[in-house]
Amino acid sequence: MQKVEHIGIAVKSLAVSVPLFEKLLNSPCYKTEQVTSENVNTAFFQTGETKIELLESTDPEGVISTFIEKKGEGLHHIAFDVKDIEAEMERLRQQGFVLLNETAKPGADNKMVCFLHPRHTNGVLIELCQERS
Ligand code: ZN
Repeated sequence: MQKVEHIGIAVKSLAVSVPLFEKLLNSPCYKTEQVTSENVNTAFFQTGETKIELLESTDPEGVISTFIEKKGEGLHHIAFDVKDIEAEMERLRQQGFVLLNETAKPGADNKMVCFLHPRHTNGVLIELCQERS
């Protein structure tokens, strides 16, 4: 795996949290994007080489809504940049990790992504992402 590409933070409202993070990071939100397959709206900030991704649910039954209900707002996942996502998925499968999607799928920010089950990663949801060419 390469660098930490971004850190995902679950928030109740982008309208509230985007200005908050702009103040915190002293850096403007450079992109917002709806990811319909995940039922989320996302907002991105660049902090050095790493991005911050805020996630707001568009569905009261969606994964982000469920997460916030259980744990409250906060750190949701860590995403690692990978060069060859299918190869990395196969490597992790062989190491006994459980993938939440069996094939890489389109994610936000022009990426192909795959998530690992947090039960096998000390409770941390891990995302692999590869820039789409
Ligand atoms: Zn992410």
